[in-house]
Amino acid sequence: DVSVRVEVKGDDELAQLGKAIQTLANDLAYLKQERSEFLASISHELRTPLTYVKGYADIARRPHLAEDERMTYAAIIYEEAEKIEKMVKDLFELAKLERHSFQIETQPTDLCSFFAKLCEKLRPAFQEKSLSLVCRCPGSVTAAIDQERFEQVMINVLDNARKYAFPGTTVEIAVHPQKREVVVAVSDQGAGIPPEDVPRIFERFYRVDKSRSRISGGTGLGLSIAKEIVEAHGGTITARSEQGKGTTIIMTLPEGS
Ligand code: ADP
Repeated sequence: DVSVRVEVKGDDELAQLGKAIQTLANDLAYLKQERSEFLASISHELRTPLTYVKGYADIARRPHLAEDERMTYAAIIYEEAEKIEKMVKDLFELAKLERHSFQIETQPTDLCSFFAKLCEKLRPAFQEKSLSLVCRCPGSVTAAIDQERFEQVMINVLDNARKYAFPGTTVEIAVHPQKREVVVAVSDQGAGIPPEDVPRIFERFYRVDKSRSRISGGTGLGLSIAKEIVEAHGGTITARSEQGKGTTIIMTLPEGS
């Protein structure tokens, strides 16, 4: 139980208090609405893969089914279960981030060697899709990052670039040191995003092309996780995109002295 005593002197203060209570009530109503929409999205998003799992499991258990057919159904069930697993993992991560129960442990990091290592690790996955992954970093640039968390950000952003870039093109990570911050830009030459969708891609579960994303296994949570982490660093993340040309995700990070 919480009890609060407020002393109000005069009509002015009373009016101010009234306004403050009204703002609080509005905020609470907004949060309640957001929470219920979020829960509705989760059930909706889980329902689709679950429908596949249930449907194909039902077919797969029919007697007299050819072995190869049964294997095909098992493969689909496995794939859909993997999507559910990824979504549950992403949701758990997001919940943790939003509760702010996670600790960002930043340390001054040389971004050039950080990205060089990351590119080396991720390059085979890009080559598999006939993409080159390059990192342009001018010598040594220091930023204050939580290396593990920021790697997660980069993986989420680069995973999209890998998914949507046209084969044969280059995905580039460019690092630009500014006065008090460092700008990191990840560009791809690919499908791009329609202008009306660009501001929304950092929202939870937002996907531009639901059917295309479904095939590529997207949950629509990757960029909202990236945003939470970048903002916890005191940074920003935005997108620029041109349909049919490509997308650039731009992050700023506080300089790490
Ligand atoms: P997902 O897990 O579906 O990729 P994200 O939150 O990472 O979810 O991204 C949200 C949506 O933004 C994607 O479904 C996709 O439609 C769009 N998107 C993100 N990055 C790119 C990109 N580099 N090129 C084209 N579309 C992108």
